[in-house]
Amino acid sequence: MVTTTDAFTTWTVPSLERRILDAIDIETPWQIVERFSKIVRLSGTPEERTAVDLLVARLDEWGIPYTLHEPMCFISHPGPTTLRLEGPDGRSFRAKTAAMGLSTDGEEISGELVYVPSDSGDQAGDVFSVGVSFGGQDVAGKIVMTEGFASPGKVTDVMAAGAIAGIFINAGQEIHEGICTSIWGTPDLDNQGRQPTIPVIAINNPSGQELIAAARAGGARVALSTQLETGWRTIPVLVAEIPGATVPDEFVLLHGHLDSWFEGVADNATGDATMLELARVFWDNRQDIARSLRVAWWSGHSHGRYAGSTWYADEFGIDLARNCVAQVNCDSPGARWVNTYNELSAMTETAPMVDAVITQTTGITPETERPPRAGDYSFNGVGLTGFYMLSSTMSQELRDEKGYYAVGGCGANIEWHTEGDLLEIADRDNLLRDLKVYAASLLRVLNASAVPFDFTRTTAEFRETLSRYQLAAGKHFDFGKAGSALDELDAALAALYAAAPVDAAPDDESARRFNFAQRRLARLLVPVNYSRAEAFYHDPALGVPELPDLHPAMAYGAAGDDVAKLGVLNAHLTRGQNRLVWALIQATETAQLATGR
Ligand SMILES: [Zn+2]
Repeated sequence: MVTTTDAFTTWTVPSLERRILDAIDIETPWQIVERFSKIVRLSGTPEERTAVDLLVARLDEWGIPYTLHEPMCFISHPGPTTLRLEGPDGRSFRAKTAAMGLSTDGEEISGELVYVPSDSGDQAGDVFSVGVSFGGQDVAGKIVMTEGFASPGKVTDVMAAGAIAGIFINAGQEIHEGICTSIWGTPDLDNQGRQPTIPVIAINNPSGQELIAAARAGGARVALSTQLETGWRTIPVLVAEIPGATVPDEFVLLHGHLDSWFEGVADNATGDATMLELARVFWDNRQDIARSLRVAWWSGHSHGRYAGSTWYADEFGIDLARNCVAQVNCDSPGARWVNTYNELSAMTETAPMVDAVITQTTGITPETERPPRAGDYSFNGVGLTGFYMLSSTMSQELRDEKGYYAVGGCGANIEWHTEGDLLEIADRDNLLRDLKVYAASLLRVLNASAVPFDFTRTTAEFRETLSRYQLAAGKHFDFGKAGSALDELDAALAALYAAAPVDAAPDDESARRFNFAQRRLARLLVPVNYSRAEAFYHDPALGVPELPDLHPAMAYGAAGDDVAKLGVLNAHLTRGQNRLVWALIQATETAQLATGR
């Protein structure tokens, strides 16, 4: 179906796009992958700095301008961890502690072991957000053991239940590294109280099965110890800037993490190499690129819960709010065995562009989904629209065939966050394909006269969300005010997009006005859909449902006829609907002003 918005969401200049894609050379990025495959890149360490030096040497060689920032951030490096069953023939188990868990400084703590089953979801996006349900079981003062990764979702629940430690049974033979705090980036006054206060460890599945049997037999006690170096540390944040030839103040932020667990080849040496090659190609062609491209390599992702990107969002908050057209994340491209673009993160307004560019570039039809609360999406509070997080991935069929469980990167290779994420997990041909996807996607956003995002897709998503919430709320609450405000916004967007300046120059006044409106629409519509926090603050690293202020509508069923519960729910939703409607009204006015009405 051809809609009026297709004219600008699928915009391209085929000759320039072909030239950019042909300019991509896999040799240089592959050399970076090979060099990085021998460097363990823990945030803020001298070893990680050698990886920064490799990138900087290339930028210097090519003459690309860059800044190496060195902010002081809150970082946690896990150390040795022990776990044993207490008793006469109690044996020891291999274990790892999660970054930001409590350090016992090597001293053992012991307690009764209690097993609480839980599941982990089957998608990469579930890995960080799924929690634990205790079903009334009293675990206070005990050591809780459950399935899954030591994720913030599960650790938050285990702490809230009063457990003195958490043991997480990973799904396979290997133990995955991870970070367990729900604090996004460096703590502030509002969220510092959520710093984990219990030791958190992970074990492999065979150990877990043995301990489950011991727990079920009754009276099992375990002793465990952790050591972590958690504190304030200088980390590198490297940002290259390729100035646009026509409208340099408007910029696209391409970003990914430099730090890793172990050698981290597919997570994320391949992404670091991708960003370096994209910087080179766009620099070489800068005379033909309208907007500026900023390329950022963050440290602090794995050991500071996105500390680097969060620092950048804080430090450059106003610049991002005024001028950033979109943020594009680059994590785990070019892994081996990947054959789909399923589970591809993209905010709804970017989906038509993403769909067109991937289909045209690779012949593969992507499946886009709502970005999870993960992966350096540290800009939702500012209101940046964005696309991509993880990249190409194995099909579900292939994962099933291999017996793979869900992981949070590496194209679904289960070596993710383990000692096994080495050179063999990356693939040259797949990396080249992903490089082309990124290059074509960036080019369209950098050069389109009318920035190719369609916020009528977003309003359609809001309607769908509201109808689900209305169904759950029944007679108790009416989302009609939001519905009316959406009608007004849709009318204003239809007028705006009918007049999209597809053929104007990007610095023509009509394009400048249209693109200012597009940026402002994102500033208004992204936060209400992705954030409960005030602008410039950061939500916890826990799942955020669609239109989060209104999601409590799903709780009406459980409230029954309880007057107090209904009263509280109604008050919350009234306030939440006001926040949404006010954003929709401002978005409507933004679109109307840009169309001169
Ligand atoms: Zn990653």
